Amino acid sequence: MKLACLLCAVALAWPTTSLAKPLFQPWIDGTGAAEPQMQVQRFDADTFVIRQSVKTNFEAPFLYLLFGKDRALLLDTGAGGLKIRPTIDGVIDGWLRARHRSSIPLVVAHSHGHGDHRMGDAEFKDRPDTTLVGLTPPDVAGFFKIADWPDEIVAFDLGGRVLDIIPTPGHQPAHIMVFDRRTRLLLSGDSLYPGRLYVPDGQMATFRESIDRVVAFTRGKRISHLLGAHIEMAAVPRKDFPDAAPTHPNERALELPYADLTELQAAVHAEGDPPQRDAHPDFIVFPLPPRPPVKPAG
Ligand SMILES: [Zn+2]
Ligand SMILES: [Zn+2]
Repeated sequence: MKLACLLCAVALAWPTTSLAKPLFQPWIDGTGAAEPQMQVQRFDADTFVIRQSVKTNFEAPFLYLLFGKDRALLLDTGAGGLKIRPTIDGVIDGWLRARHRSSIPLVVAHSHGHGDHRMGDAEFKDRPDTTLVGLTPPDVAGFFKIADWPDEIVAFDLGGRVLDIIPTPGHQPAHIMVFDRRTRLLLSGDSLYPGRLYVPDGQMATFRESIDRVVAFTRGKRISHLLGAHIEMAAVPRKDFPDAAPTHPNERALELPYADLTELQAAVHAEGDPPQRDAHPDFIVFPLPPRPPVKPAG
């Protein structure tokens, strides 16, 4: 009993993030002499997370490739400076081979329309059996059949694998988050990741409403992890790398706990418009003035 209480006290005192085993092997972070232009890691047999090397573009975004029985979804196409399609096609070919299949339709959509998430779009325009979703809110709403943007959340079925598409404008007008009911992952794009959450001037109210929408939707859904589109923080609470840093030594893990979503909600409700820079252990709310653009593609 005494020992149990002691362990209990230690567990309570210890930061939970330190105890959690990382979901992924270390990501390429620019510190190695040679690293591939893209790194693919498997979450499960139908779920792949792909990082673009910071050596090809300082944004070093993450892309997500999800398979259902009837189609696959690629979320984002990178920041440019490389060809991404050979890597994506390689993952798809491997998935098909393992299932003795010859093809699967591909949908290419975006967490949002910023340049660091769509520069590979042109590579998919002539790809067979591929639908490239547009970049504006009407494009996104039209494809996913969202009649009441941004208030309506719709299901999108990959075939035995239903995703929920959650409009989350604020960081950018066409931003969406994607909840995967199978893995219970929430793909949170640039609205929540371990780094600077840029809220453009005049968009705080919209951003806040979006975070409220996601919190209301996810309550009780037992989100497993939040996976965003960048890492800009070190494995030290509140510490971010400089903007456009060429390397990310001792980088924080990609995944965030669900508690960070409600922490962000509380943070944005405490902020005015424009927000002040507000550093939390796992993310930093960051005002983005309209001109001059501090981070035009971020
Ligand atoms: Zn962005
Ligand atoms: Zn971005």
